[in-house]
Formats: sequence, structure tokens, C-alpha cells
Amino acid sequence: MSNTNYNQPLGGNEMPRFGGVATMMRLPIEKDPSKLDAGFIGVPFDIGTSNRAGARYGPRQIRAESALLRPYNMATGAAPFDALHVADLGDVAINTFNLQKSIQIIEDHYTAIVDADCVPLTMGGDHTVALPILRALKKKHGPVAMIHVDAHADINDNMFGEPIAHGTPFRRAVEEGLLLGDKVAQIGLRGTGYAADDFDWPRTQGFRVVTAEECWYKSLAPLMEEIRNQIGDAPVYISFDIDGLDPSFAPGTGTPEIGGLSIQQGLEVIRGAKGLNVIGGDVVEVAPPYDPSGNTALVAANLLYEILCVLPGVNYR
Ligand code: MN
Ligand code: MN
Repeated sequence: MSNTNYNQPLGGNEMPRFGGVATMMRLPIEKDPSKLDAGFIGVPFDIGTSNRAGARYGPRQIRAESALLRPYNMATGAAPFDALHVADLGDVAINTFNLQKSIQIIEDHYTAIVDADCVPLTMGGDHTVALPILRALKKKHGPVAMIHVDAHADINDNMFGEPIAHGTPFRRAVEEGLLLGDKVAQIGLRGTGYAADDFDWPRTQGFRVVTAEECWYKSLAPLMEEIRNQIGDAPVYISFDIDGLDPSFAPGTGTPEIGGLSIQQGLEVIRGAKGLNVIGGDVVEVAPPYDPSGNTALVAANLLYEILCVLPGVNYR
């Protein structure tokens, strides 16, 4: 049974799943992060997008599709609401007319959450938002390890001459000392590029680059064992670009690339982070206008729940 000292997702026998306020997992809304161990935050930001926009609608549809999620993880035994205080912290009020100002708004917003010892779990938004989140995390944790699922390395020096966009966050993060380069894994990279060495720059920074082709037809559990050993007890951030999955599973995204990871492999990556010192996570680049079925947002909601399930302090039963 649920522990009444902790917030619980509103059950399907208390309010029909198609009713009620559409918070993440039908959790209560909470404004004060100091009351929480972990909080879901929406960042309705897509002005860093290079191809098709729409990720600004991600948080809203992820919340809507999360209405089916139940508290207990049948596969892993995780019961996150037994031992963690969790709620929906609402959205960041970005300035959609100004990217630079929005980046500062996001950093300030997350700094307050991280200062309050609340683990941020982010509903994107395009991948630009990872940069201000990593900046906020550095103030608390120092440079962090990262498990990064994506079709793209997101290490461009600039896009259209701009230093901050959804294809540049991890180049800036390296330059600013936000990441432990030898404890970063990028999984699922693929697609067409500009040159054969497009994925080599992250390797020069010590990143482990695992292309999608290296993942085909395989369980990723052995890879994750190696990555756990590589990361050790360092604080680790999980950044999950939904386009890391194959577009047949997650078509609602701005820069789709064929031949991606399966949902099962995405789950193996996140579940493989169990035991690590996970200090935050995101699922980004969900662009609902390209997936009227809602499936992409449904997948994203489940992946965010799975990240919650591997946080330190989670109870297993
Ligand atoms: Mn990305
Ligand atoms: Mn991507």
C-alpha cells in the first residue's frame, strides 16, 4: 500500500484517468522545491531548434499522456513514491522572444531548485535547455558525468553563427567545465553528417561515443555495466533526447533520424543507471505536432518515470 506521508499519483479509482488536473503523473503541484526530493519541471522552449519547431508543446502533452502511469514499476520493483517526496513543480516562464534571456531564466530557476536539494527531472523543450540546467547543477555538484541518449552529438561549435542552440549545448558545457569528459557516454548517434569525423570531437574530449549501429540487434545491459564502472560514484546527469529512439517509436520530434534505438534499449539505458549517483535528468525534443497519436509524449512520460525510479533513495519491493 502507499505510504501516506508521501505524495502519491492520483489513482484511477479516485478520479478517472481522463479527468482531473493534468500534472505529471497526476501528482500534486508544488511551488516550494525545498519540500521535495525530486520534482518534475516543464521547460516549454523551442527557440533553439534548427529544423522543425514544436517542442514548446512537449511538457503539456507529456503531462497529458502521463495520466496512465501508475506508481509501482513492475519490471524493476522500484516504488519511488514510498520513500521520495515528489511533485510537479510547474513550468519555467521562459521569454519566447529572447533565447539568451530564456537561458538565464532557466539557469536561475534551476539554481533555486538544486539549492533546495531537489533533484530536477525535466520535460523539454529542445535540447538547448540542457546547458542552463548543467550550469545550475555545477554550482552544487561541480562538473558531472553524463549519460546522453541522442541521434546527434550536440557538440557543434555554433549554428548559423550562434553559440547557443539545440545542437551546441555539450560543446559549451565542455568549454565551461560543466562535464567530466572521461565520464560522459553518448549513445545512439547516427544519421547523415557534414564530414566523416563529425563524431570525433567528443572522443577527443574523452567521451564514449556509441553509435546507433553499435547498438543494433543487441541488449544494452552489458554496455551499461561498462558505463557504470566508468562513472563510478561521480554525480551523473541523464539527458535523453527522444530522437535517440527510432522515429517509428517516437516520430514527434524536430530532427528525426532513421535506424535509432528501440524503446526496450532506451529502458535498458535508464534502468542501467540504477546504483549511480543520479542528480538530475531530462527527456527533451518531444514535439507533439508531428505525432497526433500522442505516442511520442507517452514514451517520454514513461522514460521520465524510469529516471525517477533510478534516483538514489528509491525503495525497491
Ligand atoms: Mn539533442
Ligand atoms: Mn537529437
